[in-house]
Amino acid sequence: MTQEDHSLSRRDFLKSSSGAVAGLGMIAGLNSGGAAHAAGGGDQAEPHFTLATMPRIDVHAHIRADWSAIDNYMTLREALKKQLGIEMAMWISLGSSGLPEPPDMAELRTRYGGRIQFCIFDYTIKDGLRYSPQDLLKWQERGVAGFKFYPGWQPDVQIDHPANDPVFAAMDQIRMVAASPHVANPCGTYGRRTEWFAEPVEFWRQQHAWENVLKKYPQLVVVNAHMLWLCYSDEQLDYLRYMLKSYPNLHIDLATTPVFLHAVGRDNLREFIIEHSDRILFGTDVGSSWFVPELDKRLPNVAEKVPQYQRYFDFLETDKELPSGIKDECKMRGLSLPLEVLEKVYFRNAMRVYPHVGEALTRLGYFGGQEAAKKT
Ligand SMILES: [Zn+2]
Repeated sequence: MTQEDHSLSRRDFLKSSSGAVAGLGMIAGLNSGGAAHAAGGGDQAEPHFTLATMPRIDVHAHIRADWSAIDNYMTLREALKKQLGIEMAMWISLGSSGLPEPPDMAELRTRYGGRIQFCIFDYTIKDGLRYSPQDLLKWQERGVAGFKFYPGWQPDVQIDHPANDPVFAAMDQIRMVAASPHVANPCGTYGRRTEWFAEPVEFWRQQHAWENVLKKYPQLVVVNAHMLWLCYSDEQLDYLRYMLKSYPNLHIDLATTPVFLHAVGRDNLREFIIEHSDRILFGTDVGSSWFVPELDKRLPNVAEKVPQYQRYFDFLETDKELPSGIKDECKMRGLSLPLEVLEKVYFRNAMRVYPHVGEALTRLGYFGGQEAAKKT
């Protein structure tokens, strides 16, 4: 894309985003009849889902690659079903401290029927990305869901360094998903800087370095972690609108963001999520200490993390007043999103974006047939 084309797309963005917002009433109206689907939206034979029956996928989990750790997620799954009456169908692990590689992939499929997917990952990219193009191909053949990397908050990290090009080119070519790359960290605005990234010039340098990668590899399928950390003010949310408008293969996950979203206007945020519902995926950061930090301190065992998930579900599905902030010191109101939007965020987008996910959900019986498999 030339520079000229690019500035044109910025202008288009400004024009079209107001039009999209004007159509929101109509989208919300589609939900008034309960589980009605948008007209013409997909396979007519597909069952209609309710909040109780729709499969939910957490695309941003940190699961240790050993069987007892993974078993804890199956216990959590049962607890979520029993206590909240919901169907937590699948987790995608982005790796965890300790073991550097996913578990045996064939054994993983046998034991969990696709409910647990793993990505390969690299958390220290300053010294170059860990995997070569050949490695990526090998891991893709073994069945990983994507490659997670972490430009993170590391000072001076240069994600758009030419040395990374062969890896991004290979990902683009073999369609390996960039699974929740974490760019920068919450920065805040003047007078409200965060402790994680108090230097706004460096924050924006890292954002722009990442944008350079997206510009160079427009076919690369990306689900950026944490709403790209452009979620700490209404102005940042505008910039995120521009990013989603400019890069059609860019998606975002919601991991950890309810902790920070009290700083954004509720109506703006709700309109943003509805407007971009094809590009937003449910994720939590379960397995890290940032999922819901105060609750995580009280309930550190994975199998007991039902209240943490409930916080996310209440935030998306209800208009309850909820605690927010790193110490639960703030308040925010739930977004009460339409059912069609929730379906996309909870599972339809993940089915479209990641390999293996749709196949596994179908095999597990979520779209009719093989009912027995659902009871596992
Ligand atoms: Zn994470």
